[in-house]
Amino acid sequence: MRLRFLGTRGNIDARSWLHRLHASLGVAYRGRWVMIDCGADWRDRLAALRPRAIVITHAHPDHAAGLSAGAPCPVYATEETWAALRRWPIEHRVVIRPREPIRIRGLTFEAFPVVHSIRAPAVGYRITGGLAAIFYVPDLVSIPDVRAALGGVRLYVGDGASLVRPVIRWRDGVPFGHSPIRTQLRWCAEAGVPRAIFSHCGTGIVTAEPSEVEDRVRSMGRELGVEASVAYDGLELGVRGARRRRARPGSAGRRPCVGSERTAGSARKGR
Ligand SMILES: [Zn+2]
Ligand SMILES: [Zn+2]
Repeated sequence: MRLRFLGTRGNIDARSWLHRLHASLGVAYRGRWVMIDCGADWRDRLAALRPRAIVITHAHPDHAAGLSAGAPCPVYATEETWAALRRWPIEHRVVIRPREPIRIRGLTFEAFPVVHSIRAPAVGYRITGGLAAIFYVPDLVSIPDVRAALGGVRLYVGDGASLVRPVIRWRDGVPFGHSPIRTQLRWCAEAGVPRAIFSHCGTGIVTAEPSEVEDRVRSMGRELGVEASVAYDGLELGVRGARRRRARPGSAGRRPCVGSERTAGSARKGR
């Protein structure tokens, strides 16, 4: 499975050359790929990007407003998200039901409801291609069924809205907003997820010195035994499945989960 971070900016005004476009992920497997989320920044870029399938996490503008003039391909979303997008001229709508895996262009997507917004209920996706499984959740306070969501996952792609400070508010006893990176790393450690990378970056990350942010996130991860980093627009990486190997004295045990990384400059377009 290969990932290409098409955009890594959250719902903020700030942008930088590393975090220029609204968070969106391209997931490729065996030559075919799926776009996850399509925020306002993507509206005028869809024609050039030419996705063949788009999967949406929730109806907030930084995740769905790129579809306000329609889509060039089938779009997949939950019933609640479709209700919010009912006025837009999207021709091919497919309903995703939570916890019912669905096959999209050779990949399997399973939606897990997450706590994030009262008006725009959100899901995260557990995505499986071959032996590799990742979890993509750009906006969240928590994952109610975190064990099922993260069990066996090689890479967690999470919400970079905040480093250590929760951005959570409450209405009628219901929380909404964003949990910080530190909290998400703790979930990864508890679930045995070896690597986490954060997209949907907030102002604190986008306006800071990139190397300082990277150091902070890496050291927060190291304390918990998780390899942690911050994604940027154009970052590509490969994810391999965990292969069981017979334990031998002195052997390292598990294979590394992530292959080569390339920068925006060397990345191929359209992945
Ligand atoms: Zn967002
Ligand atoms: Zn949101």
